[in-house]
Amino acid sequence: MPLFQNATFYISAHNLSDLPPPAGVEVAFAGRSNAGKSSALNTLANHNRLAYVSKQPGRTQLINFFSLGNDRFLVDLPGYGYAKVPEAMRKHWQMTLANYLSHRSTIAGLVLVMDCRHPLTPLDRQMLDWFGPSGRPIHILLTKSDKLSRQAANQTLQKVRKELNETWGNCTIQLFSSLKKQGVEEAEGIIGQWLFTPEENIPDTMA
Ligand code: GDP
Repeated sequence: MPLFQNATFYISAHNLSDLPPPAGVEVAFAGRSNAGKSSALNTLANHNRLAYVSKQPGRTQLINFFSLGNDRFLVDLPGYGYAKVPEAMRKHWQMTLANYLSHRSTIAGLVLVMDCRHPLTPLDRQMLDWFGPSGRPIHILLTKSDKLSRQAANQTLQKVRKELNETWGNCTIQLFSSLKKQGVEEAEGIIGQWLFTPEENIPDTMA
């Protein structure tokens, strides 16, 4: 059974004050608008519409919590970097993301979703700078890998991995395609270790 098969919508927050009190374990998903974050979440949950795949980038301006049961949560953060977002909203979200990623004690790890054709944008680096100092792990999904030849995708993987190791450390990285369902087990393996202790009754795919 896919790792996140039982994910259900839990709560949406517009402000940090709307977040549920920190309890349990969260894995946060961040990424530039249109990078493929909603598709990746839906693929990992084996669910077509868990996270809304937006046709208008920049529209999802809420922090969405999905419950996996037992106080485990996936947290879908608002996509950033969409040029048409009004300045006041952009500032609000930048501050909210900075605060959440820098101070939320229950985040076990950050999944950063990047389009493999446009990796490490300045705002992606900003996310890494905010979360990196926590010392907690970061996993990068280089999405839409089906859009590149195998050789080009692997070259990108090596290049981005090198820069991550040199600059931030404690990062893992992989290719991912929601379209081709590529990289699903690898992602589940890493994220599952953040969410579940070995003693817990983890889903079959992890055994
Ligand atoms: P988000 O804004 O980061 O949540 O991105 P979405 O998940 O809404 O995806 C943005 C666009 O990229 C949509 O048109 C998706 O169909 C497309 N997309 C997402 N993942 C993939 C993928 O793995 N391969 C391809 N070819 N397209 C994808």
